[in-house]
Amino acid sequence: MFPKASALLVPVLLASCARAPQPAADPDLAAEIQRIRAIDNHAHPVRFTAPGEPADIGYDALPVDNLEPSSDPLILRPGAPEIAEADRALFGSAAKAALMAQKREQYPAWVLDQTGTEIMLANRVEMGASIEPPRFRWVGYVDALLFPLNNSALAARNTDRAAFFTLEDKLRSQYWSQAGIASAPPTLSEYLARVVTPTLERHRRDGAIAEKFEAAYLRSLAFDDVDSATAARIYARWIGKAAPSEADYKPLQDFLFRYIAAECGRLGMAVHIHCEAGAGSYFDVTGANPLLLEPVLNDPRLRKTRFVMLHGGWPFTREITALLSKPNAFLDFSNQDLVFTPAALAGTLREWLEWVPEKILFATDAYPYSSQMGWEEAGWIASRTARQALAIALTGMMRDGEISRARAVELARMVLRDNARKLYGL
Ligand SMILES: [Zn+2]
Repeated sequence: MFPKASALLVPVLLASCARAPQPAADPDLAAEIQRIRAIDNHAHPVRFTAPGEPADIGYDALPVDNLEPSSDPLILRPGAPEIAEADRALFGSAAKAALMAQKREQYPAWVLDQTGTEIMLANRVEMGASIEPPRFRWVGYVDALLFPLNNSALAARNTDRAAFFTLEDKLRSQYWSQAGIASAPPTLSEYLARVVTPTLERHRRDGAIAEKFEAAYLRSLAFDDVDSATAARIYARWIGKAAPSEADYKPLQDFLFRYIAAECGRLGMAVHIHCEAGAGSYFDVTGANPLLLEPVLNDPRLRKTRFVMLHGGWPFTREITALLSKPNAFLDFSNQDLVFTPAALAGTLREWLEWVPEKILFATDAYPYSSQMGWEEAGWIASRTARQALAIALTGMMRDGEISRARAVELARMVLRDNARKLYGL
């Protein structure tokens, strides 16, 4: 039975007029969230190098600093006030260079301490001194294995693709020589046995806990189910020759994607996939829609592979929610916590937390975006926004009577660290 409106409404209205508005985030909950030591699911930390040493370039397979101009989001523009705030919080009155010179090899781990991060997954071409376990865990790159044929037609599409495929071809040669291969194997089965599988096994031996595809920068995420005979015919016809047409090349890439994903499952590595509108003015946003991955997630042969859709699928944040019901689907919200406000991110987070909360992972996408915004500043800003957004989303759920305070803290711990610990066995 409903009480009479007049009896209920008047006291409530009076009470709300008399009280100051409540803060969006419960202060005690926010303080508790601040203390949780996080696992950052996706970032690109830069190695310490002494003056005179060559600069570290291993932080990305496709560094995106030389693309045609595009309209940057506000936070990535020079002079964004958040960058100065991050510098003050990280370095105080000291100069960044002086602190680096003082801390040397300890500098990257010191940066993690400043943002309350226990472990950062380092998505890099290779690890190295100062970016090492236990504070940093490796996520390698595998796109170069998808494109064994002549890539000149794909590179001719636009200047961004030309830059990307030059870099992929370089990494491909590196992978081939690391596999002891001087020239292209003549058949697909030899390519799989002598290059693809050995590369994945080498990454695993060297400590990789996941492999990353930035395929959305190079093609669409629609990876069809192609049989091995078809893929083998295309490979044998085009290997070492002129560039195939896109219609011929795509089925081979599709086959290789599913082969690599299945191998990652066998080897106990997760598969990370860039799922977000990416950098550059030519980026194909439509092709990065996470719904395009549904046939992959539904492939019974790939149910043992754990797929982590990076960057929360933005702008398809609602579409990605529906995919979380698949047993092999996870997401992180890296980069969204860098470019959006806590209030905006909180809305998205709440929808995910009310659906399948054990599949949601915190991450920053800390990256050397510009001379002003290094991976340190980006990591600091994203960590702060993520914790504030979590506090707002969970406060809303508490005030609406959906969860208790204890459950709010538990959910925050799951997102910031426990879900990742379980996923990777950390
Ligand atoms: Zn990234």
